[in-house]
Amino acid sequence: MATETFEFQVEARQLLQLMIHSVYSNKDVFLRELVSNASDALDKLRLEKLRDDSLDADVSDLHVEIEVDKDARTLTVRDNGIGMSYDEVGRLIGTIANSGTAKFLQELKEAGDDKDGAGAEGLIGQFGVGFYSAFMVADEVTLLTRRAGESRGTRWSSRGEGTYTLETVDEAPQGTSVTLHLKPADPDNQLHDYTSTWKIREIVKRYSDFITWPVRLVPEKTDGNADGDETPEPETLNSQKALWARSRDEVSDDEYHELYKHISHDWRDPLETIRLQAEGTFEYQALLFLPSHAPHDLFTQGFKRGVQLYVKRVFIMDDCEELLPPYLRFVKGVVDAADLSLNVSREILQQDRHIQAMRRRLTKKVLSTVKDMMAKDPERYATFWREFGAVLKEGLVTDSENRDALLAVASFATTRSEDEPTTLQQYVERMKDGQEDIYYITGDSRQSIENSPHMEAFRAKGIEVLLLTDPVDEVWADTVGEYEGKRLRSVAKGEIDLDAEGDEKDGGEREKQNEEYAGLLGWMKEQLAEDVKEVRLSSRLTVSPACVVSDAHDLTPALENMYRAMGQ
Ligand code: ADP
Ligand code: MG
Repeated sequence: MATETFEFQVEARQLLQLMIHSVYSNKDVFLRELVSNASDALDKLRLEKLRDDSLDADVSDLHVEIEVDKDARTLTVRDNGIGMSYDEVGRLIGTIANSGTAKFLQELKEAGDDKDGAGAEGLIGQFGVGFYSAFMVADEVTLLTRRAGESRGTRWSSRGEGTYTLETVDEAPQGTSVTLHLKPADPDNQLHDYTSTWKIREIVKRYSDFITWPVRLVPEKTDGNADGDETPEPETLNSQKALWARSRDEVSDDEYHELYKHISHDWRDPLETIRLQAEGTFEYQALLFLPSHAPHDLFTQGFKRGVQLYVKRVFIMDDCEELLPPYLRFVKGVVDAADLSLNVSREILQQDRHIQAMRRRLTKKVLSTVKDMMAKDPERYATFWREFGAVLKEGLVTDSENRDALLAVASFATTRSEDEPTTLQQYVERMKDGQEDIYYITGDSRQSIENSPHMEAFRAKGIEVLLLTDPVDEVWADTVGEYEGKRLRSVAKGEIDLDAEGDEKDGGEREKQNEEYAGLLGWMKEQLAEDVKEVRLSSRLTVSPACVVSDAHDLTPALENMYRAMGQ
């Protein structure tokens, strides 16, 4: 069979270079990535066989196997899972299909300039670059695979430089085996000797203990005992216990974090772990995680959201969207339901009332966790809100049932402080005597809106204004309308008479002024007829001579831009 040589896609090549000269100090994680891929492949095969019984594949002993050869300095991770076809290998391993990759590489390079490279660690893996991490420890990687149901296999091989080779092979066992030709041993650093079975045991235990399939270590070959000695049994390295089914005090935080990393493909610890055990007629267990960083593509269309769905410890699907609302799309985790069919489809999930009840309960649980975090660990809450506040605020528009819970955990930048956001509750408590409304201003950046002419009178009178800079802010502020009976009012919309709020000015004086300036106002309106609806005197300015305001019900410029960007 002819061997063909291909070039890595440009992005893939850059990524490989970064991996090889790795910024990442903890090289052990390459094994976690390979075991994780193997585990995914076993999940996929089990599911496919369930859906199609005629599939020619053996599912009687699905497992992952690790084998080391000290003399050859190779390490092999093998699974008897779904495998890949020739085309799939080229597509999945040779390229990076993610459109955000260019941006990622940019971020990675910047992070790589950090002294400690800590920023880079977290970026890798969000982008499906798991497999390439093998090149942190190997100078050559070969992969032999056969797709379930196909008769011939494929061999892929690369030294991680510019190219890889592909070749069809007649004989290949079911599944995939990845063989790493390890870089030369570093005599000064025994810690990174990946031919040591002790080391392998330790890494699997630490990173992959909860993997539901057995991860076995093939016994090392011992020389010269050909006669009579029994070959020792492979040793299973992981406990395979589903973390969500174990009680809280049995599981360490580290174990939860490793599960998070496995399912989220994030390399950083999560910010918060949320457990939920529902008993009764519809039993389920959930283990949800709030990440510590917003993924780069959170606001792009087609963002993969949702949690993993299991039925009685058996993996059913990734990205199950039905269990959480879109504004919680950053939440990762596992939900294991006792009474669903293994064949459950998306259509069924959308209609199932148990699923809807679960979604409601999980949503409330996430929001109450954020509230607790706010009370008990303000710093952690601040991180959370900085990363995910803009997404959560979408819920103010779309989820009226949880609007109050969302308002309770929301915080906003304010004129009162440079760096300390305020909740609406705190704002209301500080409102001046006679102040009826909650004032806000929207715009692109704090700086631009803080210096807007609309703010002059508020500044002069010392009235606090919320500074809202996310695109969604205008929408929710309009939809929500009020908080605890106080209207939410944009300082840039409609007529705002601050005099009614602060020092009283008798109504007669304004009328007198209007009369006095009627000629001027009329003339200005005529001159500006094409551009404005009305010209009027205002009490909102102290320094600037004039400003443009919208009608209370007009779209503000930012919203206009947003709708335009959405093609409407
Ligand atoms: P990710 O796991 O985040 O998708 P990886 O780089 O780890 O990214 O793997 C890329 C893809 O290659 C996987 O999504 C999968 O489709 C395929 N793949 C990798 N390893 C295996 C394997 N052992 N068996 C089958 N497919 C695999
Ligand atoms: Mg992977």
